[in-house]
Amino acid sequence: MKITTDNQKLKVPCNPTIPYIEGDGVGSEITPVMRDVVNAAVDRAYAGKRKIEWLEVLAGQKAYDMTGEWLPQATLDAFQEYLVGIKGPLMTPVGGGIRSLNVALRQTLDLYVCQRPVCYFKGIASPVVHPELVDMCVFRENTEDIYAGIEWEAGSVEARKFYDFLHDGLGVSKVRFPETSAFGVKPVSREGSERLIRAAIEYALSHDLPSVTIVHKGNIMKYTEGAFKKWGYELAEKEFGDELRSGRLVIKDCICDAFLQNALLRPQDYSVIATLNLNGDYVSDMLAAQVGGIGIAPGANINYSTGHAIFEATHGIAPDIAGKDIVNPSSIILSAVMMLDYIGWGDAGKLIHQALEKLFLQGVATYDLARFMDKGKALSTSEFGNELIKVL
Ligand code: NAD
Repeated sequence: MKITTDNQKLKVPCNPTIPYIEGDGVGSEITPVMRDVVNAAVDRAYAGKRKIEWLEVLAGQKAYDMTGEWLPQATLDAFQEYLVGIKGPLMTPVGGGIRSLNVALRQTLDLYVCQRPVCYFKGIASPVVHPELVDMCVFRENTEDIYAGIEWEAGSVEARKFYDFLHDGLGVSKVRFPETSAFGVKPVSREGSERLIRAAIEYALSHDLPSVTIVHKGNIMKYTEGAFKKWGYELAEKEFGDELRSGRLVIKDCICDAFLQNALLRPQDYSVIATLNLNGDYVSDMLAAQVGGIGIAPGANINYSTGHAIFEATHGIAPDIAGKDIVNPSSIILSAVMMLDYIGWGDAGKLIHQALEKLFLQGVATYDLARFMDKGKALSTSEFGNELIKVL
């Protein structure tokens, strides 16, 4: 049965159809484990009354081998139709055509929020002294900024034209080496900023979190990053004035370089982070490293207006370890936990979270984490999945 929306609220049947992309490289090892773990948790949490109907859709190498296309229209249609899906990592095809399959999925469905929760699991080794103080959720704007892909190579006709327009049309004389400069454009709109910051505030309120911090470089880039901050404060005042005045929510801001330092020194000061695309890229990886890194960092790309969401393993296809049954499936499993939370099946997600914590505390993990744990015991991917289901 399809998940639908009613007045921007998801309506989830007891047996929702969830499309999934297995993924390239290690995808065929982590995705089946994720499905088994989610099935077990849902069964346990709802005593067999709810069940996900998984629908495999093709993308990446598997799609190319079977259909001659990297991202078949049928896959885009399935995510369009069923609203909520999940994916393993995808390789970026070399050569012409689609630049990145991930970007194509995000753009087609206008998934404007890249959401990355970062929290610590007891038992995991971390490079910082108090990783347990890190409990944040990053809302990274996913469609604008210098990542919009509007750029021209140095020496190209387009770069020359662009420079001429800057110089002759706008009177810009600050380009230091015009002949050898490449150019990139950084679009930041009020609509784009507002919808991202609104989503971050609504998330904070619905999860009883204390603050939203707008992270920006508005001190330097006044009309883009500075406007992002300004529009954020204005939106908060206009749409969430009561919550601000009652003290239920605090809105603050921080310049990005200071934030990267503060997040190491005083992570307890931060909860939900709203930021633009490039800052968000750096910030989410830095925070993930504080709590154990790439193998356990989950993520999602969401459009809160239409309900469309694709949850995903945030790491790549890990070609160096593919086929060895040693990859850590926790990133995609935790992304599935986010998905369960998103569709209102948080009880099942909680069970998975607790089971992971229990295993990590006992030093039970895949090799990437176990090697840094006191008395760590490295299990294969499939063994780790089975242990998780046993604990559930
Ligand atoms: P990568 O994440 O694939 O690998 C980086 C390192 O981390 C490797 O040593 C790998 O073995 C290790 N690693 C990654 N995930 C792990 C896990 N779950 N458990 C244990 N170890 C893990 O990054 P890369 O090498 O830069 O990229 C390889 C390919 O993946 C490229 O084609 C890239 O385009 C693609 N990629 C896809 C996504 C995505 O689909 N979301 C994200 C990043 C990279």
